[in-house]
Amino acid sequence: MCRTANSTPKNAVEEDRLSVEGVPERSITNLHTLIENLSAEKRTLAAQLLDVIPTTGRLEVPQAMRGWVEKNFGSVDAVREQEIVRVTDRVTLEGALFNQLRASRPIDVADEGAPDLLRREIEDTYGDPFCAPEKGTPADVFGRVRGSYSTTASNVAKYDGFHGLVVFDDHDPLSFTPEKVSDYASVALGWLGEALQEDPAAKYPFLMWNCLWRAGASVVHGHLQVTAARGAHYPKVERLRRAALEYKSAHDSDYFSDLFSVHEALGLAIPTPPASSPDVRGFVSLTPAKEKEVVLLGPSLGEPLRLLLADVLGRYTQDLGVSSFNVAFYLPPLTPTEEDWSSFPVVIHVVDRGNLASRTSDMGAMELYAAPVISSDPFRVAHLLSERYDRA
Ligand SMILES: [Zn+2]
Repeated sequence: MCRTANSTPKNAVEEDRLSVEGVPERSITNLHTLIENLSAEKRTLAAQLLDVIPTTGRLEVPQAMRGWVEKNFGSVDAVREQEIVRVTDRVTLEGALFNQLRASRPIDVADEGAPDLLRREIEDTYGDPFCAPEKGTPADVFGRVRGSYSTTASNVAKYDGFHGLVVFDDHDPLSFTPEKVSDYASVALGWLGEALQEDPAAKYPFLMWNCLWRAGASVVHGHLQVTAARGAHYPKVERLRRAALEYKSAHDSDYFSDLFSVHEALGLAIPTPPASSPDVRGFVSLTPAKEKEVVLLGPSLGEPLRLLLADVLGRYTQDLGVSSFNVAFYLPPLTPTEEDWSSFPVVIHVVDRGNLASRTSDMGAMELYAAPVISSDPFRVAHLLSERYDRA
């Protein structure tokens, strides 16, 4: 049976969100209890999908350090015993470590020093090659695809045989609107169509948006990148396809719908804009790649999913103060393949890459080779992303 996101009655979800006496606070450190309090059906799903391992870290603070600890963490007790929760997706084996001490800090809605730095950087880089893409960037062998707010270019140093850019008309990478985001996606799909015509084997598309230097962008000017791979999809996308298929054969159920369903039951689903459609869904991930990760699902990269993405990015940048982010689009192949993609939706990951003024990378050996360490509590992020709708 294929369970869909709509299997939970809406009022049950809303009731579930209310704080009731005796119900634990919605926070990552209470995840174990929150799962225990779910309905039997959702508890079974959670057990199929998630492995939650809580642990406590302990230390002793020397007298000479007490003042510093109190100033930075509020109290000595706060650091003496620290609750850590490790969440693993049993299906994909992706996981994250949440530390209560880090997660309980208020989320900075304006990164210190970053807004000024960003404004200066945007002003100083006006007139770069992307401001005049026809002159400053190469064209692809099939020419350029032009939209209302963007135009494509060929990447000078390529990741893959087909590697293009969607160069925004706007220099300022954060001046996007829903119409512009939709245009960028539409131009990227147009580019993928041209690449496929040029080479029918280039059927595996990947689309990414690295916004500003923390997220890996070498150019400030707003742009997306798009590639078309041959032979097989990129390893991480292929691995997800295989994991979802294995889940389907083991549980006779759809991995993506079940994943959404568990997140929704826990209060981690995010509202979709009224103009969007019930086919598209989003949630704040319990196994994020890094801070504040949001996952969006839809049957295609059509207007409803583009609207939801634009809405999330708007809330991300305006309500959460994020300025540097990655968006990764997992898209099924453009034409039939030998392998089975029939139940693979379009999956979009949105992740915050941290303060633009910070010199410290958000990725270390843990993130690259073990599991990401996360400071933002997904329950707080979901709350902040929903506030705009709660107010309306
Ligand atoms: Zn520019």
